[in-house]
Amino acid sequence: MLANSYDIAVLPGDGIGVEVMDATLDLLRVVDQRYGVGLSFSVQRAGAFAYKETGTDLSDETFERTARADAILLGAMGWPGIRHADGTELSPQITLRQRLNLYGGVRPIRAIPGVPLPLSDPRAAKIDFVILRESTEGLFFSKDQGMVSSDWAEETLRLTRPTTERLARMAFRLADHRAGQSGRPGRVTLVDKANVFRAFAWMRTVFAKVAESYPHVGHDAHYVDAMALDLVRRPWDFDVLPMENMFGDILSDLGAGLIGGMGFAPSADLGDTHGLFQPSHGTAPDIAGKGIANPTACFLSAAMMLEWLSVRGGGQRLADAALGIRAAVDAAFMDGLRTADVGGSAGTVQVTRAVITALRSAP
Ligand code: ATP
Ligand code: MG
Repeated sequence: MLANSYDIAVLPGDGIGVEVMDATLDLLRVVDQRYGVGLSFSVQRAGAFAYKETGTDLSDETFERTARADAILLGAMGWPGIRHADGTELSPQITLRQRLNLYGGVRPIRAIPGVPLPLSDPRAAKIDFVILRESTEGLFFSKDQGMVSSDWAEETLRLTRPTTERLARMAFRLADHRAGQSGRPGRVTLVDKANVFRAFAWMRTVFAKVAESYPHVGHDAHYVDAMALDLVRRPWDFDVLPMENMFGDILSDLGAGLIGGMGFAPSADLGDTHGLFQPSHGTAPDIAGKGIANPTACFLSAAMMLEWLSVRGGGQRLADAALGIRAAVDAAFMDGLRTADVGGSAGTVQVTRAVITALRSAP
């Protein structure tokens, strides 16, 4: 796919999604000048306010346009009080995930030097792991179809072989790629509850089989309850952590908490053909419109997008551009930048300026 230009579908969405996306496009334009990657953006309307005005949160036309792009950048979507007429939640992001078959939710949890962390242990500065959340089945399988009567309620957890195998392959490829970058040996740690549920004992066997194709990547498994403890006690020890949908939902918020909060946590939803990149946070109605949203998570999501395009054959410039964004974020925070969510006063515009300045002055 070595191309001279990349068509990026941009869906800012609602609330602070729009604010952090404006900031990210400002940054990406400078990145493009500096690294010559050739990005072009097509901004699409979707989300709660689009629904309110047009009656659809994601039109067919917007979906088609988005699906044709080389990659998708999304802000955040949803707004309190804006729902379907029957009261159900709008869920354009879930629609995108399902229709584009984005089964792997990749949530890197990396400590940014200079950002105050809740753990006082100096090793916390070394936190650098990835939660890989299966995003299409697991305990979300029966979402909206769970059985509820007056005396009992039931939801279904489903794990299928094709999805579990491709999740495992994504985990090992990711660990391999990270090992290549960091020089440390890669390790995949499956997070499950195999001591109680047979489904997870089965999941272990699927992972063990896939692991045979990656003999140079370490491989083990950890119970989810013990992992919750260890992610607080020794998070610097982990690398790639694949898990079922609901466990991933919970532990990725825990992970974001370890590195300063949602404003620092990027994410990607990946399939075999498409990639969607977005900050882990939502639309944050409580701070929307105040100019204080932290755009860092969205910047780092954009860096993940460039890296993904590079791995898919886009070449070294994209990889350099991704590294450039990360280094500029690190440099800006090392230089004393403090956002409101970590007790400082820098707003969206100041963060953007500081990161762009760092990017421009990098050797
Ligand atoms: P969702 O349902 O979409 O996951 P949520 O209700 O979990 O959304 P978020 O919007 O993710 O809520 O964020 C929770 C709170 O964290 C926000 O209300 C806001 O105060 C804070 N927050 C989230 N993202 C940011 C950010 N980028 N910068 C600063 N604060 C943020
Ligand atoms: Mg949330």
